[in-house]
Amino acid sequence: MTVPDLFGDLADQHAVLERMVRHGDDESVLSVMRVNGPALLAAYEALLAPHQPDERGRCTTCRRHWRNRLRRPRFPCRVVLAAHQAHQGIAAIPSQPAERSG
Ligand SMILES: [Zn+2]
Repeated sequence: MTVPDLFGDLADQHAVLERMVRHGDDESVLSVMRVNGPALLAAYEALLAPHQPDERGRCTTCRRHWRNRLRRPRFPCRVVLAAHQAHQGIAAIPSQPAERSG
């Protein structure tokens, strides 16, 4: 698989999932998220995991600028900030999940 194919597949899958979540009926959304939610959370965690602060409070992965490759941006880096910003749009989630019936 080529890089453009890989990104195309990701974009296609994202578009299908986004369309379903935004416009699907509640039962369909629940079903899709029940099946795919854990994999999406795992992908989210895998993307964030490398962006931890080092002992100097700088991201261990991001580079500030191509001209200054040795200098790392302060934590939180833009990846963590983007994740935090995305979380601001998430509705309140109960700390304890409701019990499944049946
Ligand atoms: Zn980072």
